[in-house]
Amino acid sequence: MTNQPEQSTCVIVGASHAGVNLAFSLRKAGYVGAIALIDADPTLPYHRPPLSKAYLISDDPIERNALKSPESYEKSTISLHLGCRVTHLDAGKQTITFDSASNGTTEVMYYSQLVLATGASPIIPPIPGSQQAVNLFPLRTALDVNNIKQAMRQKAAPKVVIIGGGYIGLETAASLKKLGADVTVLEREERILARVTTPTMSSYFTNLHEQNDVNILCNKNVEGLSLKGNINQLHCDDDTVYEADIIIVGVGVRVNTELAKMANIEIDNGLKVNEFGATATKNIYAIGDCSNHFNPHYGRFIRLESVQNAVDQAKCVAQAICGQPVPYNTIPWFWSDQFDIKLQMVGLSEGFTDVVVRKEHTDKFSLWYFNGSQLLAVDAVNNAKDYVVATKTIKNGLVVDKTTLGDHSTAVQFL
Ligand code: FAD
Repeated sequence: MTNQPEQSTCVIVGASHAGVNLAFSLRKAGYVGAIALIDADPTLPYHRPPLSKAYLISDDPIERNALKSPESYEKSTISLHLGCRVTHLDAGKQTITFDSASNGTTEVMYYSQLVLATGASPIIPPIPGSQQAVNLFPLRTALDVNNIKQAMRQKAAPKVVIIGGGYIGLETAASLKKLGADVTVLEREERILARVTTPTMSSYFTNLHEQNDVNILCNKNVEGLSLKGNINQLHCDDDTVYEADIIIVGVGVRVNTELAKMANIEIDNGLKVNEFGATATKNIYAIGDCSNHFNPHYGRFIRLESVQNAVDQAKCVAQAICGQPVPYNTIPWFWSDQFDIKLQMVGLSEGFTDVVVRKEHTDKFSLWYFNGSQLLAVDAVNNAKDYVVATKTIKNGLVVDKTTLGDHSTAVQFL
């Protein structure tokens, strides 16, 4: 049952994982008002994870990765405004203004509830000379990937340099290697994945890429770009120079905060929300990559960049809008695919005091991160079984017997 009057309108800015899931979750929770879903991207909303994985190496159209079919939106009376950028938010009048790319008009729309699902945009570092660079791309949207695919077709075995050794950079390296490119990853830190995981996992993935002929080079700060003919030259601050036909920038994202600022929403590593996804500004919520929420399990505010968070937060806010509030309280999980390796992560390892390794062989193991007796997180490489046990363990606060945990042939024991 919902307590929303029929004439209410929920406007959702951002039609990606968070926004689309919210729209359908609202209907599921009984929302009877109008739902408008607006996005600047003109493409039917799609899954982003395949962009650096299967979609990058396939010839399939992006529609194969659609989050929902066009008919689903019609059936659930969700009005989809694609290719429309929201340029203004008036929190007093409860209106938003958006430009329609297709007919060049500007429209003002009233909202009863507004949900900002505006996500994040790739950071393009202001490297001197980057204006002259050819085939330099970020990787966030279907259009970015289509541009990369087109550049890959210009030459056999092109030289690709990826700036940034995070998950997206490494997945892209693995995918482009499969397509026959000569791939180099330039990482500014002393190890890849430094921001997101432990040295053990960093060295595992370094080895994996090196075995597959990807050059992983750390302590490489790109400080200049130039062109020699039509080949890019990347100049690092240690005086080394790398050539590239294609440059992909994967150095992280910046939260899209422009609209939130217009509504005086508190911004601190994302849009601050309460346990129901609401900002402190009346009738405005924020979900997904753009939001910063309190995680009761870990006892701190966090901002996540994951499909799990986008989907689960969307469900939580839908319930709140429909008058059935349930506090958001989930254990984060994430995955990454590189070559034949599936990494599954559950929990947050920050603050761990010790790690136990359960290893069956080089490419099948799991790392269990503890703070004292509390299991904080697990990284499982090609080991879905350990990942499932770990998820239950963290969710239910079970205490693992660390003395037997390291023996992979023994099932995980609890105290
Ligand atoms: P976004 O996906 O960023 O969407 C925000 C939307 O808002 C965009 O479509 C944007 O156009 C729109 N928008 C912003 N401002 C405006 C405005 N003013 N007007 C109109 N529209 C606006 N996660 C995983 O869990 N596992 C993975 O393996 C994984 N792989 C990934 C691979 C790639 C290449 C990328 C890019 C991401 C990956 N992620 C992965 C992360 C995951 O895709 C994101 O966490 C997820 O997309 C977040 O969804 P979101 O809806 O919050 O934001």
